[in-house]
Amino acid sequence: MDKLIYDLKNNNSLDDGDLKCLLETDMYDEELYKAADAVRRANYGDSVYIRGLIEFTNYCKNDCYYCGIRRSNNNVDRYRLSKEEILACCENGYILGYRTFVLQGGEAPYYTDERICDIVSGIHKLYPDCAITLSIGEKNYESYKSFFDAGAKRFLLRHETADDEHYKRLHPESMSLDNRKRCLFDLKDIGYQVGSGFMVGSPYQTTDNLVSDLRFLQELKPDMIGIGPYINHKDTPFAGEKNGTLELTLRLVAILRLMFPYALIPATTALGTISPNGRELGLKCGANVVMPNLSPVETRKKYDLYENKICTGEEAAECRGCLERRVTLAGYNIVTDIGDVKEHA
Ligand code: SAH
Repeated sequence: MDKLIYDLKNNNSLDDGDLKCLLETDMYDEELYKAADAVRRANYGDSVYIRGLIEFTNYCKNDCYYCGIRRSNNNVDRYRLSKEEILACCENGYILGYRTFVLQGGEAPYYTDERICDIVSGIHKLYPDCAITLSIGEKNYESYKSFFDAGAKRFLLRHETADDEHYKRLHPESMSLDNRKRCLFDLKDIGYQVGSGFMVGSPYQTTDNLVSDLRFLQELKPDMIGIGPYINHKDTPFAGEKNGTLELTLRLVAILRLMFPYALIPATTALGTISPNGRELGLKCGANVVMPNLSPVETRKKYDLYENKICTGEEAAECRGCLERRVTLAGYNIVTDIGDVKEHA
């Protein structure tokens, strides 16, 4: 085991067979978690970065089979936040100590490049000391460049699965893994800090697929890596499919920390949804970011990617205090600085 962990840490000399073996057994979990926490502490101490998540629209032109806000789901009560409403979320967040705002949404044609640039530059002007992250899906190079020039310096775009066949089973024909990858390399080329990642336990996923995900991430070298369990949604073609597990997600968080010591790795909302203390466990396995919800309480339930999503009720109006207590109890420390990624190759 020591050799496996050593190989994982030392520039990933682990071969696919060893990786598969690690992914398929719970025998080494405790050691993996401990090693991952040590690597995280060596690189980032006990710091946990916070990112204020603003889910600004649930309109989407795509029809991903797993996603609750897919175009074909007629049961979604669709909404869009105006620039003023988004700025109000940022103001609230700034007062609470957030120095990163993440604008996430479906791929909504209403938000033209011009509108996105206007929103981004509006935030940038008012909060020049804050980082602006976009998570708005697949665009062309010029669009990404215009958002960057307007002041967005980070972008989150999970590749979802790095296996072409698997990708086709999760998405309609109009979408392709090649385009998703093209987007990620364009974003890097422009100079964004880039986040990618995948769902754990999505329908039809095999261990070989997960190995491909890790290999793709080695090629991309993203600054941020977000993973979370797949969680079923009843109004999708995958209704009734099994959820991803806490165990496999934690094992992967630990493996990612060992393979990418520098990376910013969130303990995701999906992890907190499948288990009441999922995010705390994620932190203990190497995650070092949390993304509390800054969206208006009225719209939170409508950003319904999967069932039983946490932090959508009235009581969650102020996620910051709740998460701060959770992070402290887990033995870490929320910091409010901008939280850029550490230098890496
Ligand atoms: N439209 C943007 C944002 C997508 S939502 C984009 O294309 O990047 C953010 C992430 O939620 C997705 O990348 C996906 O990995 C995750 N997600 C969507 N449906 C999910 C589900 N049913 N269970 C778990 N995660 C899901």
